[in-house]
Amino acid sequence: MPERLGPPAETPLFQRLAIIGFGLIGSSLARAVRHLRIAREIVAIDQSPAVLERIEALGLADRATGDAREGVTGADFVILCVPVGAYSALAECIASNLEPGTILSDVGSVKGSVIRQVEPHLPAGVHFVPAHPVAGTEYSGPDAGFATLFLNRWCILTPPDGADAQAIEKVRQFWSALGSNVEIMTAQHHDLVLAITSHVPHLIAYNIVGTAADLETVTQSEVIKFSAGGFRDFTRIAASDPTMWRDVFLHNKDAVLEMLGRLNEDIALLARAIRWGEGDKLFDLFTRTRAIRRGIISLGQETAEPDFGRRRETP
Ligand code: NAP
Repeated sequence: MPERLGPPAETPLFQRLAIIGFGLIGSSLARAVRHLRIAREIVAIDQSPAVLERIEALGLADRATGDAREGVTGADFVILCVPVGAYSALAECIASNLEPGTILSDVGSVKGSVIRQVEPHLPAGVHFVPAHPVAGTEYSGPDAGFATLFLNRWCILTPPDGADAQAIEKVRQFWSALGSNVEIMTAQHHDLVLAITSHVPHLIAYNIVGTAADLETVTQSEVIKFSAGGFRDFTRIAASDPTMWRDVFLHNKDAVLEMLGRLNEDIALLARAIRWGEGDKLFDLFTRTRAIRRGIISLGQETAEPDFGRRRETP
């Protein structure tokens, strides 16, 4: 499995790439696109003046602007990298400046809601191909990004019915060039799969860290001191961006609630097994779950390091 980005492309896939939202994901995209020369020009768009300053200071784009409408003008590829709660207003704002033939994509962690928010605003001839790179960290902002974030990770495309085949192919090529493995599925299926693999685990982490913080019988200093007992790994996930995750739960409500229902039933069964001393049941489950972790490591989706260390190779 490659550990580094490949050589720069001979011919760029796109002429002008506009990235809206220049945080962890947007800035990682820009770094990789720059390194691989996948687009001739990168326009960075962000609502935060502090972020625009950092983009200039770090030299992450050819130009940076706070004006989304102006920024997307003339772009042949536009990627939304903002929290999913901001999509509808943003799509409405930029729609009239998107030229026919432009491919519009995104990186949002939820897909059904994203399509419902964007499609009503799409002008004729603009091709919408939603995408979700299943890659990230608990850090936010342009300084947190790195070019290898998407390397050997999955990127899921969820083209709506009737989406343009050439546009889908170009978005697929884009993510392949970044080193990702690309899979295509419906938005509905994506939201169900991600509810159990990402959204509910984040909710559990937020919940357990919140519960520990509220305990009266265990002190805060004990929680921190003895965190290596398992709690510490939850705190990494529970440090994830509050805005992004608030929006994920509000916009993938049905799938998350369905998975939470299943989870509650299974927790009740575990509580029962503990209460009745049914060690075999616990042992069987823990053996199955261990195999899943090993499967994830053998597929290169995690390191075997005990601290769950995240690699940050430079390209
Ligand atoms: P981030 O680091 O918080 O960056 C988001 C940036 O977008 C911020 O600078 C924010 O500015 C800006 N922004 C928000 N609304 C905007 C608007 N209407 N116009 C222009 N700029 C706007 O977020 P991120 O972690 O990169 O996440 C971005 C997207 O990627 C989300 O949809 C998320 O679901 C998805 N995603 C995230 C991860 C992950 O692990 N983080 C993984 C996969 C996918 P302010 O700070 O001023 O709001």
